[in-house]
Amino acid sequence: MDEVAIAMGMVDELLRIGRENEAKRITAVSLRIGKMSGIVTDSLKFAFDAVKLEHPELLTAEVTINEVPLIYECNDCDKSFEADNFHFPACPECDSYNLTLISGEEQDIENIELEV
Ligand SMILES: [Zn+2]
Repeated sequence: MDEVAIAMGMVDELLRIGRENEAKRITAVSLRIGKMSGIVTDSLKFAFDAVKLEHPELLTAEVTINEVPLIYECNDCDKSFEADNFHFPACPECDSYNLTLISGEEQDIENIELEV
């Protein structure tokens, strides 16, 4: 996973939102990153801090990364559960492998604070 490319994509998006709102500065940003997105949150934060140096509007923005747990829903008994192991998850209720991933793949901008 290329965290620098992801950070650059997010920065582009943030700058666009900033422009749309005629913001002078972006003061805070929070991101939602799923455990299964393949993104290493520390690397993303590091990349983000490096990329934002190139953009004065973003220079002082505080970046928070919220890690989204891996949640599955069992198609056999409808139980939803949080899994640590995403290689061979099984339902804790009925041991089924017939599961649907509910969350854990997010790579979104959750919130952004602007100074206008
Ligand atoms: Zn089940």
